[in-house]
Amino acid sequence: MKEESSDDKEIIKEYTFKTWSKQKGWDPIIVTYAKGVYFYDKNGKKYLDFSSQFVNVNLGYGNEKVISSIKEQLDKLQYINPSFGADVRARASRSLLKVMPKGITKFFFSTSGTEANEAAIKITRLYKKPNYKILARYRSYHGSTESSISLTGDYRRWFVEPHTMPGVVRIPEPYCFRCPLKLKYPDCGIACANYVDYVIKQEKHVAGIIIEPITGTNGVIVPPKEYMPLIRKIAKENDILFIADEVMTGWGRVGEWFAVNLWNIEPDILTTAKGASASYVPIGITGFKKEIGEYFEENVFAHGHTFEAHPVSLAAIPAVIEEYERLNILSHVRIMGDYLGKRLMELKERHKSVGDVRGVGLFWAMELVKDNNNTPFGGYEDKYDGKITLVDTLAKKLMEKGVYVYNGPSWFIIAPPLVINKEEIDQGVNALDEILNEADKEFAG
Ligand code: PMP
Repeated sequence: MKEESSDDKEIIKEYTFKTWSKQKGWDPIIVTYAKGVYFYDKNGKKYLDFSSQFVNVNLGYGNEKVISSIKEQLDKLQYINPSFGADVRARASRSLLKVMPKGITKFFFSTSGTEANEAAIKITRLYKKPNYKILARYRSYHGSTESSISLTGDYRRWFVEPHTMPGVVRIPEPYCFRCPLKLKYPDCGIACANYVDYVIKQEKHVAGIIIEPITGTNGVIVPPKEYMPLIRKIAKENDILFIADEVMTGWGRVGEWFAVNLWNIEPDILTTAKGASASYVPIGITGFKKEIGEYFEENVFAHGHTFEAHPVSLAAIPAVIEEYERLNILSHVRIMGDYLGKRLMELKERHKSVGDVRGVGLFWAMELVKDNNNTPFGGYEDKYDGKITLVDTLAKKLMEKGVYVYNGPSWFIIAPPLVINKEEIDQGVNALDEILNEADKEFAG
């Protein structure tokens, strides 16, 4: 058994890449099976998935209804080029119209969050011609292709510079724990949002702004309640498109279908992926408001892929939405989210190395610090150069304890499958509790 497992490991290491990483030292766990909120390695060891992988396995593993809908589609029609209209495309669109934020009524289907953002930006520039500049925040992740990485403000991901997409203008994020403007909420008057108005007026030629309503991979940054409505208002007043990147925040993750619902705001474009298929098949969706759709009646929609609107991917959408509804996922997430948040706050009380705990629904970050000045345990300043931070080491130890938590250089992202129950939450939190004692030992005071 063990030998077989190491063979697989050797082949994977020899012939495939670990992404965003130097290859040396990669020691992948070979996973063979998963069910519910657990996955299993080749030796039968069981792991609690406390982060839904990359915050995408929203319905957990092995959901039979979703799987059978995908299988049925495979049996019926596995592919037809997207200029035809596979019947499943109508079914997927009808389901989407039920859950999308008000006003989002026209869809382009791709296969990832990256592609969803590529389409959003390209179409924004077409629609807003000759304006072309796009505002994006420093702490952000929008994808890995040349334009989406140009939008991404997380400089740890910049390996090929200069970026190929010109016209990206950076704005600060509402990261109150370490305010980039060195202000304090609420006395700050939400300066980070108000500054955006100034930037648009100075830059001119701005076509749009792209924002993760709650920043994801860069550490689950929940904005103060005034921030998003203010950004929406500023975008409208300056006649630029407001693009909500809901790749991570969509599909019940925050106790609403989409995070923009938390503030009752309507984006002009919404991009999403991950939870749209609950990761049973690859999918990306770019949703547009009506006027943008209408513009392309007489203008070329200059975009497309072979695998766009793939019938098998589309088959997952109505099935997943039915499951979210059948399982009452929004109210389940609110209840479990309150419980998870409460338990994580208890850890903050108990462990001096926990500097901040923040989140909404089942989407939380725990940020570790090494002294009373909230100095992070290294990392954000480093590129992905193989440097191991304390949080990386702790994440590895959690895996040894059978709990997987996705981590950044100085934070954990705790975002379990939305179907998790209290006992399973307790298992994850208790493992974190034990491991945090080790971080406390490194705390300088
Ligand atoms: N936008 C956001 C907010 C994301 O979190 C991600 C992925 N983590 C992406 C875009 C890119 O999505 P994908 O990895 O599916 O290309």
